[in-house]
Amino acid sequence: MKITVHRGINQIGGCITEIATDTTRILIDLGKNLPDNSGNNDDYLDSKSEVAQLCNGIDAIFYTHYHGDHVGHFPNVPDSIPQYIGKVSKQVMAIKAEVLQQDIKKVERLKTFQPLDKIAIGNIVVTPYFVSHSAADSYMFLIEAEGKRILHTGDLRGHGYLSKGLVPTLKKYIKQIDFLIIEGTMLSRSNEKVESERELKVRVEKLMAQYKYVFVLASSTDMDRLATFHKANPTGRLFVCDRYQKRVLDLFTANGGSYSDLYKFENLSVFPNNTLLEDMIREGFCMMVRVNKYDGKYSRFTSLTINKIPNSERVLIYSMWGGYLDSERHQNKEYIEFCKRFDNIERIHTSGHASLECLTEVCELTNPRVGIIPIHSERSDNFHLLPITEGLKRRIITTSANVGGIDVEIIDDMTY
Ligand SMILES: [Zn+2]
Ligand SMILES: [Zn+2]
Repeated sequence: MKITVHRGINQIGGCITEIATDTTRILIDLGKNLPDNSGNNDDYLDSKSEVAQLCNGIDAIFYTHYHGDHVGHFPNVPDSIPQYIGKVSKQVMAIKAEVLQQDIKKVERLKTFQPLDKIAIGNIVVTPYFVSHSAADSYMFLIEAEGKRILHTGDLRGHGYLSKGLVPTLKKYIKQIDFLIIEGTMLSRSNEKVESERELKVRVEKLMAQYKYVFVLASSTDMDRLATFHKANPTGRLFVCDRYQKRVLDLFTANGGSYSDLYKFENLSVFPNNTLLEDMIREGFCMMVRVNKYDGKYSRFTSLTINKIPNSERVLIYSMWGGYLDSERHQNKEYIEFCKRFDNIERIHTSGHASLECLTEVCELTNPRVGIIPIHSERSDNFHLLPITEGLKRRIITTSANVGGIDVEIIDDMTY
């Protein structure tokens, strides 16, 4: 067996991991590099022929979730290779493709799985287990082949609404493994406070009580965060969004609403609507704003609304990663410009990624016999700083090696 980290060591995003036996090869994720502050992602895979070359001989691809840094290159995968993703993830991607007028047929070709399905590809068996992340319908994969068990965590966290299943899942289904391939985003962001989504909701409720007019900048596909704002919005106040956001929320209601009221996104006020602005001013509102301009009419309506309300009476809640405003490398100019329109800005955000405590717990519970391979981290070596046992620390692999008879190849194409 061979494990290849094509990308993901010492970089966040652009994840690609390969697991190969003598007869079968699969990829976990085929992500795009995250763009820098000028929108440049410096990605050699932005070419159909490069993707085809990387995929040559690959029998299947499994995606942990729909974020672009994990799924971004899927449209260029040759049709002959089956690609698997969660059912709801596929629907989110279909809505996005439609709105952005991308080729919907590419999304339709994706195969879907349910949690706990055992999917056999040649002599490799892949089982998806649900994890909490800032994308709905995210999974970690247990990969079993040639008597070895590998857990690939994808992106996950222990402080979301649905995180309480993580430890029981690890104990009941995963147990001990041979290799752990684990995200380590927070290893280079350890100064960020990791609040739970529930704690965040309490802070949002306080702001909603303070301001009648609340504008929110948040990810349109982060089901937990959307639930936080929707549930914190006082009864009688309007929850305003565009048609695209409504479609995503309706999808989440249809899938998540049956097991928790938290995900029942009801009473949405959707633009366009002739009397909406009057109703908003009278009743108060929580408005999900969109900064990218795919819907010019909604952007103009947002501007109109902002201009109608005195600056002192409105607040913008910025509920995304702070790096888009602060980090030199990842600054987003559109977000920065938009924020300038408000005197009152509150930052309310918690990471979609595992805290250092959560990473430690996953390592200890799965107790990998042979190796721990940190990916999705700008500082994979920082994994040594976690308070895990010396025995586990010795099993951390950040450069190519042959361990326990298994070849681990780690390609580091982006060194910070
Ligand atoms: Zn990611
Ligand atoms: Zn992600």
